[in-house]
Amino acid sequence: MSASGEYDCIVIGAGVQGSFTAHQLAKRNQKTLLLEQFVLPHSRGSSHGQTRIIRKAYEQDFYTHMMEECYELWAQLEREAGVKLYRQTGLLVMGPEDSRSFQLYKNTLQKNNVPMAILNCDNFCQHIPNVNLAVGDGAFVDITAGVLYADRALKTVQGQFEKLGGVIRDQEKVTDIKPGPVVTVSTSADVYRAKSVVITAGPWANRLLAHTGLQLPLKVVKINVCYWKEKIPGTYNVKQRFPCFLLTESKESKVHIYGLPSNEYPGLMKICYHVGSETDPDQRDKQTDRSDIDILQRYIARGFPGLVPEPAVVESCIYTLTPDEHFVVDRHPSHSNIVFGAGFSGHGFKFGPIIGKLLCELALGEVPSYDLSPFQIRRFQDKTKSAL
Ligand SMILES: Cc1cc2nc3c(=O)[nH]c(=O)nc-3n(C[C@H](O)[C@H](O)[C@H](O)COP(=O)(O)OP(=O)(O)OC[C@H]3O[C@@H](n4cnc5c(N)ncnc54)[C@H](O)[C@@H]3O)c2cc1C
Repeated sequence: MSASGEYDCIVIGAGVQGSFTAHQLAKRNQKTLLLEQFVLPHSRGSSHGQTRIIRKAYEQDFYTHMMEECYELWAQLEREAGVKLYRQTGLLVMGPEDSRSFQLYKNTLQKNNVPMAILNCDNFCQHIPNVNLAVGDGAFVDITAGVLYADRALKTVQGQFEKLGGVIRDQEKVTDIKPGPVVTVSTSADVYRAKSVVITAGPWANRLLAHTGLQLPLKVVKINVCYWKEKIPGTYNVKQRFPCFLLTESKESKVHIYGLPSNEYPGLMKICYHVGSETDPDQRDKQTDRSDIDILQRYIARGFPGLVPEPAVVESCIYTLTPDEHFVVDRHPSHSNIVFGAGFSGHGFKFGPIIGKLLCELALGEVPSYDLSPFQIRRFQDKTKSAL
């Protein structure tokens, strides 16, 4: 296709997944258009903010396997762009020693020979000062884990995409998708046509998929991104080599609490709860439930005595959850040239480069380089609505 409104592929949504997909397509010499409804950069979706955790510690082998290559792809982008996107800090995993979840995390790392250090109650304080390990809790460190510089990563990958001739049109909301051998995409400003379309619309995924007759069982929730003040500045600082952490469950909650060392805001450590309240992505700030903050306050007062147990900064972000919290990466059941990545369930950022590669392969009609069965929509069966 050669006319200006005609592309090999159109990617809808310039969050982490769409941006990496567009970059992969451009690397494969595809004439690619990346459409974004807001002016870039923006903070209305799921990929904004300075930091995210990268780790191999997972309960399931398939994520750990994908992360092996994904670390390489992050490093490759750093080299190509000459930008630092990752800082190794390690990830401290804590949880009831005898719980299924804690054991799964530990076993997955051990089975896959991921560098790790097991801590016991005698050496814990020496390695991780200023954290109280609960009685009965075990702890280990996923050594290669760390922090990704999220905003910088998005800017970098979008810049690399443009350097390869890719076109980004921001402030252009997609208003219609007409499936067919050539897909027609209408926006608030123009109409485009492409051989294939990738939908990576984050919390808005179902609104876009509705144009194709498909609805996924996705739940959109607002997450309060809380930063907590160090009583003595530097106590939990990235420069003092304080790690990221993941608490699988605790007295306060059966659900994850996770945190990152103080870094982006001096003297403030980011600690969040892996649960939020349902929201409409266009009305995110109307959601004011703070019950998650109460849980965090109780945990921080007990587990992090060096922090003031009152959030100093609260920002907002959105999770798009699937029922099993595994991603959706698949082809449309009726239109094989429409593919989508959705439902990244609050843990998709680190996978951006590999999701981009997989969605690019699907868009090109290739066999994907990983077994995508954990991510296919047929696992939902009765929960997936198709009008087709
Ligand atoms: C508080 C918080 C902490 C997290 N921590 C981690 C972590 O430590 N590690 C990790 O790996 N992951 C983490 N995640 C998850 C990760 O950030 C998300 O999984 C990821 O950002 C999802 O990216 P996305 O591209 O699918 O969605 P988004 O970033 O939301 O991108 C979708 C884009 O599509 C655009 N769009 C939607 N509709 C249209 C339309 N009609 N027309 C044009 N454009 C459209 C949107 O504006 C948006 O820019 C966290 C998430 C949150 C909220």
